[in-house]
Amino acid sequence: MTIIQNLGEYNGNHLWIKREDLIPFSFGGNKARKVELFFREIDKGDYDCVVTYGSGSSNHCRIVANECCRRGMRCCIISPEEASESTFNSQMMELFGAEIITVPVSEVHDTIEGKLSELTASGKKPYFIEGGGHGNIGTEAYLQCYQEIKEQEKEMDIHFDYIFFASGTGTTHAGLVCGQLIFGDERKIVGISIARKNPRGRDVVIDSVRKYMDGRVDDDSIQAATTFIDDYTFGYGKDDKRVVDTIKSVLKTYGIPLDTTYTGKAFMGMSEYVKGINDKNILFIHTGGTPLFFDALNKIDR
Ligand SMILES: *Cc1c(COP(=O)(O)O)cnc(C)c1O
Repeated sequence: MTIIQNLGEYNGNHLWIKREDLIPFSFGGNKARKVELFFREIDKGDYDCVVTYGSGSSNHCRIVANECCRRGMRCCIISPEEASESTFNSQMMELFGAEIITVPVSEVHDTIEGKLSELTASGKKPYFIEGGGHGNIGTEAYLQCYQEIKEQEKEMDIHFDYIFFASGTGTTHAGLVCGQLIFGDERKIVGISIARKNPRGRDVVIDSVRKYMDGRVDDDSIQAATTFIDDYTFGYGKDDKRVVDTIKSVLKTYGIPLDTTYTGKAFMGMSEYVKGINDKNILFIHTGGTPLFFDALNKIDR
């Protein structure tokens, strides 16, 4: 269980933060929560190597590579050359001995297929994890997080009216929405998109919710529960000055690191959104990405 920390009054509301970034493995974050569940599957199925994909700044790939390294398992990462920049994450993937295959984004799919066949043909049993830990297992991880939040609300005797976080490949968002639908809770779950635009970004989240709920809730309820804000994407990897200012201010005020790709955008989106509401209990989920904070620190003027 990760802590929920009170950050006091914020733009006329009351702000708390759930520190998923403090999950105690490989700098934590939502990918650490997802990867734990993926590796349970890996253990059950006696797989002996992992294939996944992601960019040079992927927190998912760093954590998968770290877990494989810890177990002495082979790890292959397919990376699109359009987004293969060197970051602290990519440097760690190298340190963990991951086999990184960089190809044009249009060839990623075929390269994954080729790698899986090649490994199988050589007598290995590869396990494939989608980018960002997408799929029902990723959704399950954030349904569990939602249940954790409910337990913490009980303990703290508080109800969160809003939950904000960075939404990327969508299963963090989907898991939280599934939780709300399953428990029938009155609150608003707001994903701040870090890259995708509406309607596609929201559709991907809705698709994941549908897949996980498998007919247990009607589509209108899923539609009504899914809020996807795409005003703060700024182009994946591009550093907007307002995001950088948000990162500086949150670090100086609370001592909490954010990054320019995910959590900085989400915190900024949350901060704008809550200007339109008053006296509500707000929970911001810090989804991790701490190594990316240091990449940002290298670039921002001090
Ligand atoms: C991957 C990631 C997200 C987005 O999570 P998804 O489940 O892919 O939507 C948010 N924040 C951080 C730090 C991430 O690494």
